[in-house]
Formats: sequence, C-alpha cells, structure tokens
Amino acid sequence: MLIVGSKIMILKNIKQKGDKIISFFVKRIFPKECFNCLREGEWFCDTCSKLLPTHNSKQCLFCNSESQKNGLCANCLKTTGVSLAFAAFDYNDEVIAKAIKKFKYSFVVSVGEKLAELLVNELNKSDVKINRASDYIIIPTPLSQKRLNWRGFNQSEVLAKALSKDLKISITKGLKKIKDTKQQAELSAEGRLSNLSAAFSWQGESLLGKTALIVDDVLTTGSTIKEIARELKKANIKKIGVIVLAKG
Ligand SMILES: [Zn+2]
Ligand SMILES: [Zn+2]
Repeated sequence: MLIVGSKIMILKNIKQKGDKIISFFVKRIFPKECFNCLREGEWFCDTCSKLLPTHNSKQCLFCNSESQKNGLCANCLKTTGVSLAFAAFDYNDEVIAKAIKKFKYSFVVSVGEKLAELLVNELNKSDVKINRASDYIIIPTPLSQKRLNWRGFNQSEVLAKALSKDLKISITKGLKKIKDTKQQAELSAEGRLSNLSAAFSWQGESLLGKTALIVDDVLTTGSTIKEIARELKKANIKKIGVIVLAKG
C-alpha cells in the first residue's frame, strides 16, 4: 500500500508541471502491460480484448430484471426518465474493475482512453441504434469542482470524447454538479437518493427537442443517472439515453 500511495503522491505532484512531463513519468511508473495476460505494449492486448466478458443486454441496466426494450425493463422505462441504456462490461469482472481503478484512482488517463475504445467497439457491435439524423447531444456525467481538482480530469469526459468522435455527436458541458456529495458507494440506496438531491444543475442552452446520451464510467443503482434525468426533464429534454463502461 505504501508503494501505491507514494506513486499516487508522485503523480499528483508532477500533474502541475504540464502534460508532457506527466506522460513521460506515467509511462515509466506504469509501463503499459495487458491487464489480463500481462504482455507488454498495450493495456489490453488484441487477444484479451476479445475475451472480455460483456454485460448481458437482456438484463435491465437499473434493476437487473429482464429487459423489455433498449436495455431496460418495463418498470424502469416508465419510472427512470431514460429510454435507452447500454453497458459494455460488468464491474464485477476483476480485470475490468482493475483497469477502471487504475484509470480513476492512479490517474492513468491512457487506461481510460483504451477503455473508451473498447466501449465504442462494444456499442457498435450491439443492437443499439443511434439515429444520427436526430438532434443528439452527449453529456458526460459531471464531477463537482472539488472532485475535479482532486483527480485533475473527469473520467466520464474521457469516455465521452471517444463516443463523440465515433458517433459524430457533439459533447455539451451544460450540466454542472453544484453540490460536493459523498461517495455513492458508501451509502444505502435511500442515502444515495438524498445525497444527490439538487446536486446537478442544467446551465446550458435549451434542450427542447433534443436527445441526450449521458455517459458515465460505472452505473450501480442508477441513482446518479435518475437525478440527472430529473434535472434534464426540467429543461424540457425530449429523450434520454445512458451509455456506461460497466454495470456495477
Ligand atoms: Zn492480453
Ligand atoms: Zn428495471
């Protein structure tokens, strides 16, 4: 733990000295090796990328019961304000969880970029149809300013950038997290909802007639997405979809 802690301290200090220096050190502290087979060169080698267990799209992303349409069960289609839900992987897969932790808690952005590439591949292989003629926007789940300062980047934005490039849909940063909430993982289901109450604020242009694809890294109970959906509905959004890297 001491070694991991000191690596994080080193990384946090050099973060302030510019991207070039960061990537120089990150490459040396964390040389790229496949999370599964440990072969050097890539975070996921070609062989292992194809072996990663994907999320079962027949399970509702919010409640795990049988999905009826677009990755959601009949009840969640009615109650969540979301009409399309997609997760590429499962967070209970050890390899995926290890990669996500390295991305988020050891601040290795290149792991996130590789995960984003895998997410895009899985989305393209799925039967999720994004109608590009419609008025779509991509909204990365925002972090509070305090959290953003701590991490130095928003992990959802790294994923959103890859999706934006592939789907040719622009990213909108009008959604703000105005409350620095507790970590959701530490709370019960009820606690999660009250923790997030009034946490988000839409401060962008009118959403009338638009369909938003909300992007996040891990969805567990879906409380964050439900709260965001509530906020976007107030701003007259037409439809909401959610795309996540992994189901927790
Ligand atoms: Zn491998
Ligand atoms: Zn459901």
